[in-house]
Amino acid sequence: MPTIQAPLLADFISRLFQGAGAPEAKARLVANSLVESNLAGHDSHGVIRAHWYLRNIKDGTIKPAAEPVVVKDTPTVTTVDGQYAFGHVAAHFAMQITIKKAKLAGLAATGIFNCRHIGRVGEWVEMAAQQNLIALAFCDVSRGAPIVAPYGSVTSLLSTNPFAAAVPLGGQPPMVLDFATSVVAEGKVRVAFDAGKPIPEGWVIRADGQPTTDPKDLYEGGMLLPAAGHKGYGLAMLMEFLGSALVGQGDITGQTGHRVNGVLFIALAIEPFRPLADFLADGASLYQQVKVVPPVPGVEEVLIPGEPERQMAARRRVEGIPLAEQTWTHLLEAAAELGVAAPGEKDER
Ligand code: NAD
Repeated sequence: MPTIQAPLLADFISRLFQGAGAPEAKARLVANSLVESNLAGHDSHGVIRAHWYLRNIKDGTIKPAAEPVVVKDTPTVTTVDGQYAFGHVAAHFAMQITIKKAKLAGLAATGIFNCRHIGRVGEWVEMAAQQNLIALAFCDVSRGAPIVAPYGSVTSLLSTNPFAAAVPLGGQPPMVLDFATSVVAEGKVRVAFDAGKPIPEGWVIRADGQPTTDPKDLYEGGMLLPAAGHKGYGLAMLMEFLGSALVGQGDITGQTGHRVNGVLFIALAIEPFRPLADFLADGASLYQQVKVVPPVPGVEEVLIPGEPERQMAARRRVEGIPLAEQTWTHLLEAAAELGVAAPGEKDER
């Protein structure tokens, strides 16, 4: 399994996107986001995606040089047409607007339609929390085929529809809650499939409703289960309304030929409610209380959401990012096709 240092990997991925027609700033933004996902331990949303994005650039469903545009604008509400640019570019653009308006008006909401895959949703809410805003993200996923069974059924109808929220804390990095409303993100099944490993029972059922630990079954008519039964299912439905219907993504539960995200970002300023310092102090106090709760045997430390990712990132920044053999092979094949030098090779272009 190759292990690559983050800066080297980000540079390689950025050059691949540039080789496929992306302007440098956009290529870097997407490459950095993918590598940050690997650093956070969410390999499912890391550079494994580069190969698919390159394929989408080739088939015209990602427009690597496109700029998202604002199509509706009030002091608090914005609608962005993602223009089928990279989803990361659209999400970054939309969250920047949300942050700016929330600082001025106290709160802001931004919807994005015509938006490709925005990757690890937590990245975008964390952007706002780093500026002392509370942020929420509601994300609808449409893909080639539905993949998640509504609670109590054995029929795929929904998708992994992730939710994320970030809250600034005094003296600590923000709390970042970020999860698929299915039991896991589909990409984690894909990572197991690529690595030839079984998946835990309880993630996927086969087309006949039987449980399975073979990741292949998901791609042969099986389906992911909702997280926490009826609760994750309810949240997945909410993502359909807020991430799709409200923002005009236009295909509720719709399964477009390619993967798109409908997105709603909401940011809240704290000062209109109470002094920022008081809120941050409450956050610091809650954090300290959680930290002294005794862990159960086998658990080293009780964490808050966002901490597992930060701990993993600290480790991988030093040790490098391990990549599945197949992921690395796909990247090298793409490099050869685009005439881009792999890390350690001389660029012949
Ligand atoms: P997951 O099940 O690993 O849950 C992650 C969340 O749980 C994080 O907030 C994490 O900090 C928290 N967490 C994990 N262990 C914890 C612990 N011990 N204590 C406290 N908190 C803990 O994530 P997932 O559902 O598999 O989703 C993975 C990623 O996939 C997310 O970043 C999500 O945004 C992304 N995703 C994106 C799309 C898309 O279309 N853009 C679709 C689905 C998922």
